[in-house]
Amino acid sequence: MSDTPTLIDGKGFAATLRAEVARKAALLKQRDSVVPGLAVVLVGNDPASEVYVRNKGKMTVEAGMNSYEHRLPDTTSQEELLALVRQLNEDPAVDGILVQLPLPAQIDSDAVINAIHPDKDVDGFHVVNAGRLATGLPGMVPCTPLGCLMLLKHYLGNLSGLNAVVIGRSNIVGKPMAQLLLRESCTVTIAHSRTRDLPAVCRNADILVAAVGRPHMVTADWVKPGAAVIDVGINRIPKEDGKTRLVGDVDFEDASRVAGAITPVPGGVGPMTIACLLSNTLTAACLRRGIAVPD
Ligand code: NAP
Repeated sequence: MSDTPTLIDGKGFAATLRAEVARKAALLKQRDSVVPGLAVVLVGNDPASEVYVRNKGKMTVEAGMNSYEHRLPDTTSQEELLALVRQLNEDPAVDGILVQLPLPAQIDSDAVINAIHPDKDVDGFHVVNAGRLATGLPGMVPCTPLGCLMLLKHYLGNLSGLNAVVIGRSNIVGKPMAQLLLRESCTVTIAHSRTRDLPAVCRNADILVAAVGRPHMVTADWVKPGAAVIDVGINRIPKEDGKTRLVGDVDFEDASRVAGAITPVPGGVGPMTIACLLSNTLTAACLRRGIAVPD
């Protein structure tokens, strides 16, 4: 049992990463007269998505890059959205394209994601980028798992040989997270809703990543003493005063009694996602032009 686990400060790390991206973007402008551009497409008025898109735009500009926002009504047809994606693919000022999910029911998200040019797919969701990640080729890596990996490497150093358990097998978090940990030579288990005796599987983990969407699911008895616990979950639960608060998939207080290092929610993985998006946009701008990312 560890008395006080190391608090993995995603908020602080993300601020450092954004400053680093801003520094490199300034060098890129000076060296190559290139200002990376990120286009974000929002369809409809989902309140959470509105907040994300606003923050993305603000932080893109703060990092010295161009932000292009496209807002479409929730009645937008799939063909209309695909036409916009094609236009952005052709636009030389746009280095990264992000279509905010979820999309309205009449739109097939996979069709839209796979219409984005893979080299502009800064979310890393395109099948080509999933394939590149799975086969060890350079490509765009999904931002949330990339942020988790950066935190793990920063706090643990070399991950080689560690047992990693990822709870969740979505294409946007669980699967790419597992691929990234495998790339670091972890021994990786992917758990999901059909996993038998999940607590026992988790107790084997030196690194435990929870990406489920179930508040406080992971408790102290699921955690190997000294393990690093990364909580990707973002769940809104009611408070006694009728308001709501954000909690993760991990019972932070309880798991902290056993973990060696742990991310809080909020302030852990969440802020890393946008920071990695900015980093991916800078990388995409350089790769597309065949120039090196400034040091
Ligand atoms: P998702 O697509 O709904 O996938 C959830 C996964 O959890 C599925 O693979 C599911 O298994 C598994 N699962 C569900 N119930 C389970 C149970 N009782 N035991 C074990 N596994 C179970 O969700 P997602 O998009 O990956 O997101 C996961 C969480 O991360 C959500 O809270 C989301 O809000 C959050 N998130 C945060 C960020 C961030 O920036 N921090 C970014 C993305 C997502 P099956 O496949 O068997 O159904």
